[in-house]
Amino acid sequence: MAKHQFQTEIGQLLKLMTHSLYSNKEIFIRELVSNASDAIDRFNYIQLTDEKFKEENWVGKININIDEVDGTLTIADNGLGMNEEDLMNNLGTIAKSGTKSFVESLTGDAKKDSNLIGQFGVGFYSVFMVSSKVDVITKKAGEEQAYMFSTDGTGEFEIKPVTKEEHGTIVYIKLNDDEKEFLSKWRVEEIVKKYSNHIAYPIMMHFSEDETTGKDDDKVTKKVKKSEQVNAATALWTLSKTELKKEDYVEFYKSFAHGDNEPLTYLHNKVEGGQEFTTLFYIPKTAPMDMYRADYQSGVKLYVKRVFITDSDKELLPTYLRFVKGIIDSEDLPLNVSREILQENRILANIKQNSTKKILQAIKKLKGDDSSAFTKQYNKVIKEGIFQDHVNKELLLEIVRYKSSTQEGMIGLDEYISRGNSEKKEIYYIVGENEKVLRNSPLLEAYKKAEVEVLILDDKEIDEIVTPMIGAFKEWSFKDITTMDAPDSKTAEEKEEISKEFKSLTDKIKEVLGEEIKEVKTTTRLTSSPSCVVKDASDPMAGMAYMFAQMGQPMPETPLILEINPDHEMIKKLDKLENSETFADMAWILLDSAKLSEGLEPKDKSAFALRIAKIATQAL
Ligand code: ADP
Ligand code: MG
Repeated sequence: MAKHQFQTEIGQLLKLMTHSLYSNKEIFIRELVSNASDAIDRFNYIQLTDEKFKEENWVGKININIDEVDGTLTIADNGLGMNEEDLMNNLGTIAKSGTKSFVESLTGDAKKDSNLIGQFGVGFYSVFMVSSKVDVITKKAGEEQAYMFSTDGTGEFEIKPVTKEEHGTIVYIKLNDDEKEFLSKWRVEEIVKKYSNHIAYPIMMHFSEDETTGKDDDKVTKKVKKSEQVNAATALWTLSKTELKKEDYVEFYKSFAHGDNEPLTYLHNKVEGGQEFTTLFYIPKTAPMDMYRADYQSGVKLYVKRVFITDSDKELLPTYLRFVKGIIDSEDLPLNVSREILQENRILANIKQNSTKKILQAIKKLKGDDSSAFTKQYNKVIKEGIFQDHVNKELLLEIVRYKSSTQEGMIGLDEYISRGNSEKKEIYYIVGENEKVLRNSPLLEAYKKAEVEVLILDDKEIDEIVTPMIGAFKEWSFKDITTMDAPDSKTAEEKEEISKEFKSLTDKIKEVLGEEIKEVKTTTRLTSSPSCVVKDASDPMAGMAYMFAQMGQPMPETPLILEINPDHEMIKKLDKLENSETFADMAWILLDSAKLSEGLEPKDKSAFALRIAKIATQAL
């Protein structure tokens, strides 16, 4: 007999479960039934593919037993079972990244935390919401020794050898005094039907009922043992769409994805003809907690002719769709597909392509609140998609949303185009870290004046990489306003004239600033600001951010050009200024304040502050 300490994170989880205010306690049945079904799936697979298990005359089944006298509920399966090591690894530690993120996000505030449970299935441990004494008796298929794992829901558990005939797992749950509702046949049946109706294996319920025999004085009432199958036991996705209602899909989703929320949308497709396969996909209302972890869990399960194959193949859908939950069931793959075969299989590649398109089309159809909810959760991963998925670029560009200089909220590119100049066919954008800084950027002044809409891209890290490589959308080309001329009404000759007129000034400023700046020139893009900085469009590095990102290297800095506004009072005065020290101070101020307006840092912040103080003192 060996006593063990739970991993710290599990200790935390157990405490949360035991003291949870969570109102939806019934889900522990869903979680245990789902584990039973997973274990049967796994045994089913090895039985069909491994000679060692071929002879066994086996039918997968889940048994739920209610013992009112003892106050216990038992959930048993004849699936794969666990050995001692499995018990340690699977029930004694948290291995999954999703569960880890969940525990990391716990706040210690019971109310907030119980809301979190709702968003996230915590599987086996949910049983501690209703019980403080749980025994798991289990025997792994192909092994001799069975084991019992026991815990009272505090910090310790115990594993000891026991005897058990069949492989599989039995979970004994001694219900807490105020949780006796889970001993009612009706209540349990209702819960199983609600969440587990379409688990693919029969769920049998065993219970006792009062039965009266005889008449009048000879009447005798006895407890009689009864058994009933309580679920439909058909895999939901094998049914035809016409037989299924929205509720059926939603309940299946809850058991499948362990969530409390309805999905944002779902799509169910049977493809026949050449290749045959069925897919059922869901888009969760809130993004999975591990979406931005490198070790995220795949949300898609692969089946072959209804036999579960794997839930850990991340290649079933493109990475940017890692938030999608669902099922792919193929009729054409062999049952004993190896991992290597899965990697480069034509059948799977075809399913992947078909599924991606269908999912994107379903997303595109989202309207109103659903569409904004989608954008809020997934806009960034859609941008990843634009970068990765050239085949579906057009569809992704129809889905992605951006902020706009003329509009509140997020807009789509089709909306932008509908308001844009259809002769020029240009989509203007500016990228940066901070929405406010971008909105106030001097570079936008000319666009505001000309009433030209500019997209405000403030997911800098990803926008900077993705946007330059978009090229065009429906023949409208993307234009970074920091690397191009602004809209204005002046001709090239007039601009040339102005540039000549201020040549001595721009030369003098360049002399002061030296290598800090590539060039100083006059501009017509500004109205209220005296100066701005723009990226040098002729620089070969401009627009190459994605290449560097792909090589995993930081982007080299693009040289900047300082532009000055010849109509501004300050520039006019500067042109006539005699004092060379003040001139130098002003030249630096022009550069540093222009940098600040774009969210960039001045080269020397304290020197900048000192110069401002000096000039202000003179002005007073
Ligand atoms: P999840 O099911 O999401 O992996 P759980 O907390 O529900 O998380 O279960 C943890 C692990 O314990 C499972 O992944 C599985 O390996 C093991 N397990 C739980 N219940 C059973 C069971 N009835 N039969 C075999 N293994 C089980
Ligand atoms: Mg589970």
